Amino acid sequence: MEQQLSRFKDPALARRMIEAIHAFAQPDTVLMEVCGTHTVSIARSGIRALMPAGTRLASGPGCPVCVTANSDIDTVIALARVPEVIVTTFGDMTRVPGSTSSLLKEQAAGRDIRIVYSPLDALAIAQANPQREVVFVGVGFETTTPLVAVAVRRAKQMGLRNFSVFAAHKNMPGALEAIIADPALKVSGLILPGHVSTIIGAEPYRFIAERYGVPGVITGFEPVDMLQGIAMLMRQLHEGTSQIQIAYARGVMPEGNPVAKATIDEVFDTCAATWRGIGPIEGSGYRLRDQYAAFDAVAKLQPQVEPTREHRGCRCGDVLRGAMAPDECPLFRKVCTPENPVGPCMVSSEGSCAAYFRYY
Ligand code: SF4
Repeated sequence: MEQQLSRFKDPALARRMIEAIHAFAQPDTVLMEVCGTHTVSIARSGIRALMPAGTRLASGPGCPVCVTANSDIDTVIALARVPEVIVTTFGDMTRVPGSTSSLLKEQAAGRDIRIVYSPLDALAIAQANPQREVVFVGVGFETTTPLVAVAVRRAKQMGLRNFSVFAAHKNMPGALEAIIADPALKVSGLILPGHVSTIIGAEPYRFIAERYGVPGVITGFEPVDMLQGIAMLMRQLHEGTSQIQIAYARGVMPEGNPVAKATIDEVFDTCAATWRGIGPIEGSGYRLRDQYAAFDAVAKLQPQVEPTREHRGCRCGDVLRGAMAPDECPLFRKVCTPENPVGPCMVSSEGSCAAYFRYY
């Protein structure tokens, strides 16, 4: 196994891929790596600097914490302020600044905020604290949504009445369409996310190739994976074709994971969601279906959400659309650092600004 995995870091294989990328190079090429994990992988392995002249790798909207709108962060903070509520969340969310506070500041002020590694941990906390309401903050793409759906379904089976979810999950294709359709951004091809695609497969992206003529390649996360995905995209651009291809066959089936998709579909329906930097997109969010409505934290607790204010000078929205690189933000490294993050792209381990800060 270890020997197999080492092939994905093999310098000779990588060199061949780089030669192919240069052989297929076209002027004015913008390839967007959609996924935050790809952004970190590209930065860590120095792939950006290996691109031919005229080819730019732009980061996209694939960091779930980063694309969560300020208004949603403010709602989570308001939920944490409801008396006797325990808010459970993944670690990155605690440091994301809302309009005037963050979960970390709320925790310092005495609110009960706990970091968990799975929504099932939140269920266990609810069982152990029957007198208190336990809210799980559901942020993420299709990689985390099925697990949250399982937790909600299990809570219903157990008759657990003190568990609820703030559902801020998102799905990717609608946001990609908003970016592709923006003539100012001129994205030539998409490096599509490997782990989201293990759930949804290749089909949901196909309209991007067919309607907009923009090719995409679903790509893994090791250096050779990344270079292979880029080489396949460059080849399509060179040959004037536009297809959705899979360069991550060891993880992704064209049809995705039917069990996970059915689990999401049983518990959640799609709805409009607001993305930081992009705005509201119809069908890009998830809400609990009527039979699970009792687990909707906002409907249950009616939190008092303060008016939302955007962070002055923060350009996360432009970074998330690929309109600017993180180091073009005037606050980058001067005011905004991982110790003192102004926006979510500097907080999250998958954020573009954090990756630029660490590796460039
Ligand atoms: Fe926002 Fe900081 Fe990134 Fe600028 S560097 S876009 S302020 S997170």
